[in-house]
Formats: sequence, C-alpha cells, structure tokens
Amino acid sequence: MRYISTRGQAPALGFGDAMLTGLARDGGLYVPETVPQFTPDEIAAMAGLSYEDLAFKVMQPFVSETFTDAELRGAITRAYAGFGHDARAPLKQLAPNHFLLELFHGPTLAFKDFAMQVIGQLFQIELEKRGQKVTIVGATSGDTGSAAIEAFRGLDNVDVFILFPYGRVSEVQRRQMTTPVEDNVHALALEGDFDDCQAKLKDMFNHFEFRDEVGLAGVNSINFARVLAQIVYFFAAAVALGAPHRKVSFSVPTGNFGDIFAGFLAKEMGLPIDRLVIATNQNDILDRCIKQGAYSKHGVKPSMSPSMDIEVSSNFERALFWAYGRDGAAIDALMTELKQAGSFSVSDNAMGALLAHYDSGSISEERTLEVIAQTLAQTGELLCPHSAIGVGVGNDALARDRATPMITLATAHPAKFPDAVEKASGIRPPLPPRMEDLFDREERVTRVPNDLDALEALIKERRRT
Ligand SMILES: *Cc1c(COP(=O)(O)O)cnc(C)c1O
Repeated sequence: MRYISTRGQAPALGFGDAMLTGLARDGGLYVPETVPQFTPDEIAAMAGLSYEDLAFKVMQPFVSETFTDAELRGAITRAYAGFGHDARAPLKQLAPNHFLLELFHGPTLAFKDFAMQVIGQLFQIELEKRGQKVTIVGATSGDTGSAAIEAFRGLDNVDVFILFPYGRVSEVQRRQMTTPVEDNVHALALEGDFDDCQAKLKDMFNHFEFRDEVGLAGVNSINFARVLAQIVYFFAAAVALGAPHRKVSFSVPTGNFGDIFAGFLAKEMGLPIDRLVIATNQNDILDRCIKQGAYSKHGVKPSMSPSMDIEVSSNFERALFWAYGRDGAAIDALMTELKQAGSFSVSDNAMGALLAHYDSGSISEERTLEVIAQTLAQTGELLCPHSAIGVGVGNDALARDRATPMITLATAHPAKFPDAVEKASGIRPPLPPRMEDLFDREERVTRVPNDLDALEALIKERRRT
C-alpha cells in the first residue's frame, strides 16, 4: 500500500516513511492510495472479538508491507495494556437509540491515547529497525501533547517537544505535559493560541534544512498512523450495535477533524454508517462550512472545550480531497486561497459529496453547561465539556432521524476539565487513583515567543539525539 499527498506533488511513500514523516513535503497530508474493503460477512465475523484482535484486523491491511503480523500484534497488545477498562472503548446507553462510546480510559484520559499509544510502539519498532533517531515536535490544544508525551517518554531514539498555547490549556492538561521527569520530554508554552502553535509546526516542516538536520517527525493528527488507529473504535461500536445488519450514525466532538475522518474511512471500508455528525463548540467554522459552503476564518474564541478551539482544521483537507474526487491540484489551490485570503468556497459538486456523509451542529457555552447538567440528571453520566457538545449535537441529529442509532464519542474524562464540569453540575470529578498525585508533582516548562527562529534554535540546543 502506497500513501499519496492530498496536494499531489510529494512522492508516494510506504507506511513506515509516511508515519515517520507526518506532513508531506508539498504541505499536504498523506492518505492511502486505495482504501481496503471488508465484505458484510467479514464485518459480521468481527462480533465478539477483543478490542486488540479487532484492531489487528482493521489496521493490518494498511501496514502489512512495513510491519510483520507479529510486530503489529505486539504493538497493539502493549498499547492497550495500560488502559483502565477491559473493553478499552465501552459503550453505554444514554437514551432510546442514543449511545455513548467512552474513549477516555487511557493513561491521559482522552481519546488521543487510542492512537498515540499505538504509534509510540510502532515508532519504536521502526526506528530500531532503521537505526535512526527522530525529533518529534507536536502542537497541542491540550490532549495531543499529554498523550504524545505519555507514549514517547523515556524512548532512546526519540526527543519529544510539545508546543501548547500559554495559559489556554486546563491545569490537568498542563501538568500531564510538564511533570514527566524523563529528559527526552520538553514542554514548551508558546505565547499565542493553538492555531499559532500549529502554524509554527507547519513552518518547521516546510523549512527543509531544519527538518532534515533534526530528523523532524510529526505525531499530530496530520500523521496518518493516528487516523488509522482511530478507525478501530468506529468498527467496535457499530459491530456491538449490530453492524453490518444495522446502520448507525456517529456524533463526533470535532476540532482538527482527525477523529471524524477516521469514521469516514471506516465507512469507505464498508462499515454501514449513515451520518457522520460534526459537533463543534462556538468555534463553528466547520458547521458554517457544511451549512453555507464556505470555509471562512473569524478568529478563535477560547471556550470551556479547549481541545476544539480551532479554526484551521487540518484534517478537513483530507475530507476535501475525497470530496474533490482526489484532485490534488484543486486542494492545493484551496489551501493557497485559505492562507492568502483567510477563506475559500467549496464547489457545488464537492459540497454534494460532503453532504452525502456529513451533518453538523454547534453548541454554545451556555448549552454545553445545560447538556452536562441534563445528562447527569437523566442518566447519571458526568460528561466532559467536549463530550457534552457531542451529546447535544447528537440529540439534535437524533430528533431528525429517530430510527438510526446515534453513537456519540465521549472524547475525554470529566476529571480532565473539572472547573467546567463543576460549574455545570456542582460536582468536582476526582482524578482516577492512578494519577491522584498529579498536583503534587514538580513542573518543568519553557515559555517561548511566537517566533520560528527562536523555536528552532531552542530545539537544536535541547535535543539529545
Ligand atoms: C482532540 C480532541 C477533540 C477533537 O478531535 P479532532 O480529531 O481534533 O477533531 C475533541 N475532544 C477532545 C477531548 C480532544 O482531546
């Protein structure tokens, strides 16, 4: 299987190179040249498998030229061994035909662990085979950074630098990034917002001299390996509710579009998904795009669901690539327009293609608090603000179509966002026992200006490899 760039200019790569690289050299994102398919019989045979066995079945066709079956199985087993729930991604019922897929039982309490733990293992296998070292630089609105640090801390052939927006992540998120003691971990607080962090990361990738000198690798959701590992839980949930014999829809709290795009690929692989519902907070650029056909930046407003405070939704480029009939030149033109004018219009044809799969909604700050309180009263389930946005938008979509089961992704544990949850419900959710001492651990962090030269100099000086 080869991986090609959404902008059509960079050379096609195998899985190992696409994973170690992250962003393509033409600024595009890697996608598989063809999408492997499962027949209904093959999907029916997934019923009752362990999460690990299912992950092997779903991921194997994408990586078989890079990893042996034994390597992949080993990586998956080690990745999920530290999760706090045997089902890994348990499904709960909230209301008639509304289900919650809990994706927060990993080591950093957010769904990012599902992919990051696997790619930590896969990086290690691949780098050892190649005798190579890399410098991972990641931009985070909070959860990616802690998940990446948790997955790569202490590895010999990796330095990991995480850029997060100064003052804009929750205290639990910050402490998860600043308290690991391993000297290959570097937490950097950037003076700017998440889009600034992401822009600096892209600039580093486009500065080829720096990129090659430090062996830059990216583990943001632009890395296809991340998206791949996330496809698995769409299969797990749909099969648990009767796929391939029954269709389901998903409501996905969305920022960078990585999670929901994994759902799209699950559908392309043959999983019978009806609607993929994009749930956004007050930063509703994706909801406006789906409703109005134009992608237009208005400025990010900080919200109580910080992991979704995004305007440059990187993986949306992958969705557009499919919607434009996999025309790299068309995507390159749109992205150039976005960079220059801050907006672009989606063609009628492409809008038709998007609307065949996606639906959308957005939830205000006030409504987020209401959904947390209502869900607690009606079901006993305490939601984090991101998950509440998914549940709110999922409820609205369910009201339009009662017949198809709706599965909302619960993307983080409520204890990761205790202030918002307490404001909504009066309950301050405690951290799970395994991280009870988080507030006592010493923090290590460097504050950095929003400046490319300064950042590159710091990374060159700090990295050990
Ligand atoms: C990252 C994140 C999201 C957004 O996911 P994307 O893949 O970026 O769309 C939603 N909720 C939580 C808790 C997250 O950490």
